[in-house]
Amino acid sequence: MKYKNASLSAEETRRFKILNRVRESKGMPEFEPEEYKQIVNLFSDKNGNLSGALLKVYEVAYIKYGYRLSSMKIPCKKCKEKKGFRLFRYIKNTGEFFDTCRDCNPSQHSGFYYVDRRRKLKLLKRPTPRMSFKQYRKEKLKYKDSANRFHPRQKDSIQRMVQVFGRKIFSKEKPCKDCGNFFPLYMFPANFNSTYICNRCRGCESRRIAKYIRNRIEKGNSAKKRK
Ligand SMILES: [Zn+2]
Ligand SMILES: [Zn+2]
Repeated sequence: MKYKNASLSAEETRRFKILNRVRESKGMPEFEPEEYKQIVNLFSDKNGNLSGALLKVYEVAYIKYGYRLSSMKIPCKKCKEKKGFRLFRYIKNTGEFFDTCRDCNPSQHSGFYYVDRRRKLKLLKRPTPRMSFKQYRKEKLKYKDSANRFHPRQKDSIQRMVQVFGRKIFSKEKPCKDCGNFFPLYMFPANFNSTYICNRCRGCESRRIAKYIRNRIEKGNSAKKRK
């Protein structure tokens, strides 16, 4: 009933109902329909969709400040600049925003945290050396993995390719066997044991491997069922 009065489209109403249903099941207070657009505005991700993770982080702040959050500028202790609330962590215990922005404080920066985690992932025999936050900010635009994230291993691999194949890997291009796009040679994975550069680009190669693994798992499952 209460959904009818709000000026939400059918799709928005549908999503809003799902949001409230989830909240109800977790014992959290439901949102009012009038709040829905504000929430989407405040906590949308890169693609403009409501991000549950962001909502979770800032929910208490939203209840406290309401839509004022959108125009709020918070001063950073270190760089002295005033920035939007999403650059500051909200500390639920004290009910305040953290005094240093994510750009100044590496431990507040989840991107850096995940890079560090990828760096030392258990699977790797040879973790890449620790990197500083400053270095991370300098290099994050340069070395991207197939999911478009900064990857320290990628940097390691490209530097090794320069040693083995020379600097031509930046200037010379070739087409990818799968997607047909032309890329510079460093965008292809290399095999250092028999010294050759693969024919699929890094993106296609990682998709191929993911598909291969998925098939293996499915095969394993269906074999188990037959027994
Ligand atoms: Zn700052
Ligand atoms: Zn490709």
